[in-house]
Amino acid sequence: MANTAAVVGAGWAGCAAAVELAHAGYHVTLYEAARTLGGRARAVDVNGARLDNGQHILLGAYAETLRLMRLAGVDRAQAILTLPLQMRYPPGHGMDFVAPRLPAPLHLAIALLRARGLAGADKMALARFSTTARWMDWTLHKDCSVSELLARFDQTPRLIQLMWRPLCLAALNTVPERASAQVFLHVLRDSLGARRSSSDMLLPKADLTALFPAAAGAYIEARGGSVRTGTKVQALRAQQDGWQLDASGGADGQTQTRADVVVLAAGAPASAPLLAAVGQTALAAQLDAFDYEPITTCYLQYAAGTRLDLPFYALVDDPANLHFGQFVFDRGQLDEVQSGLFAVVISAAAEAAAMERDALADAIAAQLASVLGQPALRQPLWTQVITEKRATFACTPGLLRPQVASGLPGLAIAGDYTASNYPATLEAAVRSGVAAARAVQTRA
Ligand SMILES: Cc1cc2nc3c(=O)[nH]c(=O)nc-3n(C[C@H](O)[C@H](O)[C@H](O)COP(=O)(O)OP(=O)(O)OC[C@H]3O[C@@H](n4cnc5c(N)ncnc54)[C@H](O)[C@@H]3O)c2cc1C
Repeated sequence: MANTAAVVGAGWAGCAAAVELAHAGYHVTLYEAARTLGGRARAVDVNGARLDNGQHILLGAYAETLRLMRLAGVDRAQAILTLPLQMRYPPGHGMDFVAPRLPAPLHLAIALLRARGLAGADKMALARFSTTARWMDWTLHKDCSVSELLARFDQTPRLIQLMWRPLCLAALNTVPERASAQVFLHVLRDSLGARRSSSDMLLPKADLTALFPAAAGAYIEARGGSVRTGTKVQALRAQQDGWQLDASGGADGQTQTRADVVVLAAGAPASAPLLAAVGQTALAAQLDAFDYEPITTCYLQYAAGTRLDLPFYALVDDPANLHFGQFVFDRGQLDEVQSGLFAVVISAAAEAAAMERDALADAIAAQLASVLGQPALRQPLWTQVITEKRATFACTPGLLRPQVASGLPGLAIAGDYTASNYPATLEAAVRSGVAAARAVQTRA
């Protein structure tokens, strides 16, 4: 008989663990408390439209995510739009930086030479950053804030405003003053410092549930496993050579099920009490100690056919003038069905998230109308503001993140918060899921 595995939580970490275990021959049961698969990267239905809980960008450097999507049968060309590295602002409102399709590091050198909206001093500073970071092998002796790093590397105010701050917010969801320079350098190393394709920016065309979690569910079901949505795991109990899971909800109601191995991928806040109850109190305390940062996505629907000139633009945020938007995406260029739908992203969004939703959407419509020079954008047909209050942990200098081993045989933890070179991202989540699936198989 095949070995059995239970995976608790069908975010991207849990889905990755489930696929990896099914691939290794396990019969996997995937438990998800919500009705939709995907966790913090999932589809949501609003006003008859299928949206995401937040606009996401993947990088070409997300090797494990792309590998598992392939394994689960996702057609990358259909599901993802691949764009070269870019930081492009609406004309007259920032800079225009696009990497040509040339081998690294030539793509960056040419992008720098051609960049518009940067003075010679800004370009020199950017070249200096890249050379120094390579020379340091992207490693700091002691972690510090991104702001300190930028000061040490003599970066110009314009470059910080138009390049480093938006990159730091997008990648670490933490303001540069509080963000870890070491984690930021790791992201830059794997994207800017690696092969050109690693620096590509990948925009999901499919919704986030279809992009991987649904394919992961189908993959495990095709290999004798099952997916139990709307089902919350209430307790884990160690047994002789295995685990019992007490679950409630979903089609099966209250159940007690046995599994040889368990991957706990329920996110840090929900995993902590389950770990404390099996005696792992120090680990549980570590999981409870994270601080979190919100991300707000504001969707604005305009008449079908309303378009941006590019699939997405960076925006200069200026909260003092109610300009909160940091990036705007034209969803219609990703999926015909979403013609006229724009998604505006605000990372580290505490200030914007505290505003009344209609007032925030109104301010964002005004920002778009003004910087894109299209007065009609002032009047969307409808808007939807989605704030994920605990979108990611605050990625601060020297933050200690737990390993996937739980300290108990046959039980491992997975999630974007576990030890990784990456900040809280899809790739960190997927890598941890793969590592946890491998760890439980050794029952160490
Ligand atoms: C708005 C937003 C924008 C983002 N943008 C990007 C981006 O552009 N690029 C990027 O790489 N990353 C981005 N991220 C981060 C990325 O989405 C997360 O890092 C990743 O989704 C975390 O996955 P996870 O599996 O670790 O955790 P989660 O997604 O939190 O998964 C945990 C799952 O466990 C379930 N669960 C909890 N308790 C139980 C229980 N007792 N029983 C059963 N199930 C349970 C939860 O319902 C949830 O589905 C963004 C996040 C947000 C919120």
